[in-house]
Amino acid sequence: MEREGANWTCPFCGRHTTITSPNYHRDSNRVLVSDSALASDLALTHIAIVCPNPDCRQLTFHVTLSEASPRSHNFKVGSKLQSWQLLPESSAKPQPEYIPKSLRDDYLEAARIVSLSPKASATLSRRCLQGMIRNFWETPKRPNLKQEIEAIQDRVDPQTWAAIDAIRSVGNIGAHMEHDIDRIIEVEPREATLLVELIETLFQDWYVNRHDRNERMKAIIGIAESKKDQRNGTAKAQGEEIEAATSPANDEPHAED
Ligand SMILES: [Zn+2]
Repeated sequence: MEREGANWTCPFCGRHTTITSPNYHRDSNRVLVSDSALASDLALTHIAIVCPNPDCRQLTFHVTLSEASPRSHNFKVGSKLQSWQLLPESSAKPQPEYIPKSLRDDYLEAARIVSLSPKASATLSRRCLQGMIRNFWETPKRPNLKQEIEAIQDRVDPQTWAAIDAIRSVGNIGAHMEHDIDRIIEVEPREATLLVELIETLFQDWYVNRHDRNERMKAIIGIAESKKDQRNGTAKAQGEEIEAATSPANDEPHAED
């Protein structure tokens, strides 16, 4: 886990930053039981980090149970026994609201249970993947994931295709591509994690990139329109000036600026 002064990436907003006090706190305490089956002496370390990004300020919280040296004061934290990431609850990255809610929900749930139940996670991920393909590429429904994926082969860029295709060669996920999406299949935690990562990548490559591009285009069009308005305004004003200067009512000679 992170040390003070270390580079750190906020799991909530994705901002890369350096964590320093007062946004960082680490402390260890003796756990005052002795001779447990786990270890004869225990220490609990907690690490709290507040994201320094003013728009985020989310708390990341992590605890570790370790062996402790036997003295009750000035104890030393020994080797790690187990650790828990308490906040955020999972490694799931918050996804923007312009991604359909049903897809975000499936993804968040899949990420949350990926180590607890890889097969349930993989089922949600497969459903999410199918939903994304239908929603983003507006493809008609097909009987299985294999056909859904093949339908977009010519439309996605080669690198994205390679990533999607790689999943099909992974253990049981690949073996069951032709089965119904809701069939629960046994998968390794690693396979379930790969699916979650693929979905994160596709959210980014498809939805986020499309959204960002649209925003950039809107900004460019907005600037172009305001320039046009400005030019029209200036031309109109100049026209009026020339008219005023050449008007017989204006006796004063028109001075150059
Ligand atoms: Zn943050």
